[in-house]
Amino acid sequence: MTDIKEIYKSLHIDDDVYEYALKNLDSLKERFLRIDETAEFNQLKVLKAFQECRVSDACFQGSSGYGYNDLGRDTLENVYSKVFKTEDALVRPQITCGTHALNVALSSNLRPGDELLSPVGKPYDTLEEVIGIRESCGSLKEYGVSYRQVDLKADGSFDYDGIRRSINDNTKLVTIQRSKGYQTRPTLSVDGIGELISFIKGIKSDVICMVDNCYGEFVERTEPSEAGADMIVGSLIKNPGGGLAPVGGYIAGKKECVEKAAYRLTSPGLGKEVGASLSVTGSFYQGLFMAPTVVSSALKAAIFASSMLKELGFSVYPEPDTLRHDIIQAVTLGSAEGVISFCKGIQYAAPVDSHVTPEPWAMPGYDSDVIMAAGAFVSGSSIELSADGPIKEPYAVYFQGGLTFPHAKYGVMRAIQQLKNDGIIDSSALTV
Ligand SMILES: *Cc1c(COP(=O)(O)O)cnc(C)c1O
Repeated sequence: MTDIKEIYKSLHIDDDVYEYALKNLDSLKERFLRIDETAEFNQLKVLKAFQECRVSDACFQGSSGYGYNDLGRDTLENVYSKVFKTEDALVRPQITCGTHALNVALSSNLRPGDELLSPVGKPYDTLEEVIGIRESCGSLKEYGVSYRQVDLKADGSFDYDGIRRSINDNTKLVTIQRSKGYQTRPTLSVDGIGELISFIKGIKSDVICMVDNCYGEFVERTEPSEAGADMIVGSLIKNPGGGLAPVGGYIAGKKECVEKAAYRLTSPGLGKEVGASLSVTGSFYQGLFMAPTVVSSALKAAIFASSMLKELGFSVYPEPDTLRHDIIQAVTLGSAEGVISFCKGIQYAAPVDSHVTPEPWAMPGYDSDVIMAAGAFVSGSSIELSADGPIKEPYAVYFQGGLTFPHAKYGVMRAIQQLKNDGIIDSSALTV
């Protein structure tokens, strides 16, 4: 069996779903070329950093105990600084996730009496507890750090007047979330972030501007650190880990900011000097090396899903032809059955746990049941093909990731097949 249609059929894709996908992909060729060009640029940028930092076999050795003089760890942090064009970087397996990285960056650079400002509306869910917007043990609020927020305007633009009014003597740090996360606001472009930062620095030049860079790395040719951000922060089980990093986070930026973060992550007096890399360093390097093309696969997958589902009549966000600044695709299925069916399809397409059926459950921290489809090599990794949806109005799923485009393409097709199998869509909708 060498026929492509046959192998799809053996993986439960009907002819009409296959033909429908083919037609759809045809219309996306130009878009995909642009994405490949960005991946090419970013691949070379990463390669150049590896070469300039003289990455060698010895860098993959790892360390144990205190982790003094860990060549691999220190060189990797130089590579990240070069890629992100920052003075310094902290890239560690001891940073447990994106939320932790953001918490370390914030809590280390803020002191009692300081104020934190979000000029782009409500931050990512988990940050509400870090900041203390929702009462939480150990929040910044408990340590005497106050918080202010200026929402985006209805059209998604910055509320410059509101931001100007909110900056005061205590404003020490501004947090800017690049990705929309699981909200329906536009994701910010690097240029847009740059404009916002220069506006803020024009009012108060010494304010620290931090960008939550989750889901944004390598989507564009530049990163927010090249547009004036003092710190950019992210998770290694998203874009920059390239699907290979099994854990970790990074904070890259001004030397002073990164040093403070290191003294907080480890201990005053120790900072960046300690922190054994154990045996993960090799995967951090290789993952970063793979990240530009992995991100390009995820971007194509998001656009393909958007295009396929829009044509079936679902409302999608962003639209297929919108310029992307992150890898998340939202699709409103409009019913609990639709959300469950879509997530089942994604799960059945996975390389891991394809034989299990996801069910909605009451996840801690959410106010409704949530269904999640993953089947990932790295638990919870959302650079791998994944989807999740809260079982509540408007019954939307958030879809992201895809280590390779052929797999992500199949995942989208399998999800549409599942919608067909479950009677959510009619075969007549698929006629080419
Ligand atoms: C994923 C994410 C985070 C952090 O999430 P973790 O699950 O803790 O890694 C923070 N902000 C945004 C925008 C994210 O997408």
